[in-house]
Amino acid sequence: MKTVFQAKESTLLRRMHQRYDKEFEKLLMEIRDYASDFDEERLRKAYNYALKSHLRQQRYSGEPYFDHCLNVAILLAELRMDVTTIIAGLLHDVVEDTDISLSDLSEEFGENVSKLVDGVTKISELKFQSRELQQAETFRKMLLSMAQDVRVIIIKFADRLHNMRTLEHVPQKKRPRIALETRDVYAPLAHRFGIAKIKWELEDLCLKHLEPDIYEMLVDKIQLTRSEREKYIENIANPIYKEMAKNNIYPTISGRPKSFFSIYTKMKKRNRPFEEIYDLLAIRIVVEKVEECYYALGIIHNLFNPVYDRFKDYIAMPKINGYQSLHTTVVGPAGKMVEIQIRTNAMHILAEDGIAAHWKYKHGSKEDNSIEAALNWVKELLDRQINEDAGDFMEDLKIDLFQDEVFLFSPKGDLYKLPASSSPIDFAYAIHTNIGNHCIGAKVNGKIVPLRTQLRSGDQVEIITSQNQKPSRDWLSFVKTSKARHWIKKYLKEEQFTQTREIGQEIFNKFLKKNHLTEKSPELVDNISKIGFSNLESLIIAIGRGEIVIDTIQKKLFPEEIEEKETPKPANFFTKYLKKSRNQSGIRVQGMDNMLINFAKCCHPVPGDQIMGYLTKGKGVTIHRNDCKNLINLLEEKQRIIDVEWDIEKNQEFLVHLMIIGEDRRDFLRDVTLSVSKQDTNIVMANFSTEDMYARGQLHIQVKDLEHLTKIINSISKLPGVFSVERVNELN
Ligand code: MN
Repeated sequence: MKTVFQAKESTLLRRMHQRYDKEFEKLLMEIRDYASDFDEERLRKAYNYALKSHLRQQRYSGEPYFDHCLNVAILLAELRMDVTTIIAGLLHDVVEDTDISLSDLSEEFGENVSKLVDGVTKISELKFQSRELQQAETFRKMLLSMAQDVRVIIIKFADRLHNMRTLEHVPQKKRPRIALETRDVYAPLAHRFGIAKIKWELEDLCLKHLEPDIYEMLVDKIQLTRSEREKYIENIANPIYKEMAKNNIYPTISGRPKSFFSIYTKMKKRNRPFEEIYDLLAIRIVVEKVEECYYALGIIHNLFNPVYDRFKDYIAMPKINGYQSLHTTVVGPAGKMVEIQIRTNAMHILAEDGIAAHWKYKHGSKEDNSIEAALNWVKELLDRQINEDAGDFMEDLKIDLFQDEVFLFSPKGDLYKLPASSSPIDFAYAIHTNIGNHCIGAKVNGKIVPLRTQLRSGDQVEIITSQNQKPSRDWLSFVKTSKARHWIKKYLKEEQFTQTREIGQEIFNKFLKKNHLTEKSPELVDNISKIGFSNLESLIIAIGRGEIVIDTIQKKLFPEEIEEKETPKPANFFTKYLKKSRNQSGIRVQGMDNMLINFAKCCHPVPGDQIMGYLTKGKGVTIHRNDCKNLINLLEEKQRIIDVEWDIEKNQEFLVHLMIIGEDRRDFLRDVTLSVSKQDTNIVMANFSTEDMYARGQLHIQVKDLEHLTKIINSISKLPGVFSVERVNELN
């Protein structure tokens, strides 16, 4: 902003009126259009007041500063805001940029106006060290102001939109920061509050300044293909219009312009060229009544083939920001995909203006609860952020602002909103932590589905639990909600701790036995600090974690026993076994072929598994899976662990155990064994039992390798009624 000193005030004022009076009259006309009786004099007074207050100030563009104030007011009138808001729009910068105080404003225009201006002024920027902090703070202030009066945030959107429209006049080095803040804070909030009109323009302007080359390219290409597209859309719109007119429904059908930003985001996300993304044509059909929407849908699906999984009924189930429409995609002439939105007039206004639409239905339309919903969201977020640092607050906001959602029902008909691609596990945790922890299966719309199924809007989900079921690490690879993730991780952590302690205890007991000690022996209790621990518990945990080995404990407790125990040199060891070993084992030991190899009975490794060898006197090398519990146990003698790798030549078969849990139904066993045999597999043993409502099966099978095993597991999983198939170590 610059200040102009030269001219006399009266001269300046006259010039300003010459320049802006006509535009102001146009603004008045526009407001008269939607607000039948309002205090024109008050608005005129605000106009004169703002004009005079900013008289000597200029924008970067060289325009009078007032240009900005008037444009903000015009934007607010386009949104059909009430006159108090428009007055506050004209005056929104006077407190920040001139000598006028809030009490001056309150005296001249009333408390409502001064409160709005106060709210807008408070949001104005503070400088923070990091962009993250800066944005978190802006977010917080926007939300706080909104909790006071929703109109503040709408003025702020109009303010930002005009600033973005004129961003090219701002010095180059300041532009990226403003554009980034707009992209990361203002546009998502505008979206959250359903003000699509403003959101799209803000995003396109961000793209223009952040990626000018791409923006130019898009503008050019879209310009070039325009007439061709318009013709195509006409070819689709005409038959729809004719059919509907037969029933005295006259819809408005228009080609829907796609925003540059959304084309760009899709190009980036799907890594596809412009042509493929932009090929997607889009039209919008606006009718009067809700039933006409469904009628239009029927006609469209009759005229063109719908793409089966692209239909969405946001009328029955509005989006979280209140958005309603029917969405469908059809195959148009020449096989082109056409996206179609169908909505009523009222839905259209709400879809474009979001919470700003509220002032159009002054006397409270029943369709409009967008403000209330938006405010509830804001309050909840503000409550949560009291206990969170800026980073977590932004994380939550991002999840809330950017994730798409699905609507799901419990068998009783309760509605749950979860992030898109949520699984039955997410649903189970959304009901209750306990349900999640014991979730063993799920029925979607009455059919048993795998736990990693992606739920879709409208699904009715029934969770099956079993007290024997526990959260699995595998779940983390597909759950979508932070709640499910949190509880699964918590459980795994606790479980891991118990396991670590058990392993530690077991190894420690062996040590005690060998030295004829008990946990209470004074030799141990009095000398525990010599080992470097303050108590037995932490020692046992450390053993379990492999942080200390028994050898070390032995040496530290009984240093006098410098025993000469056989630790044969590896070279001798290997030569000894060379004679006995065969080479069909399928395993190579540290580059040598002829070792005596056997496979551990505890974990049954198959080719493809990560493995390790354990050297035993007289028995050769036993092959374990890396994650085998017993191997962890054996780690106390590290010198016996050796590197091994798979080296299969022949059609060897390896034994594995599977545990299958499923619905208790007829022919379950038969179906399972049949599907296994089809995979060219030997079943060594099969054992099935039933428990509560479900069947539990144990299978011992011979497989070639991990790939073969995976195929078998997949084929069993696909059988109807199967909840889970798991490779297990020992069966119980
Ligand atoms: Mn401003």
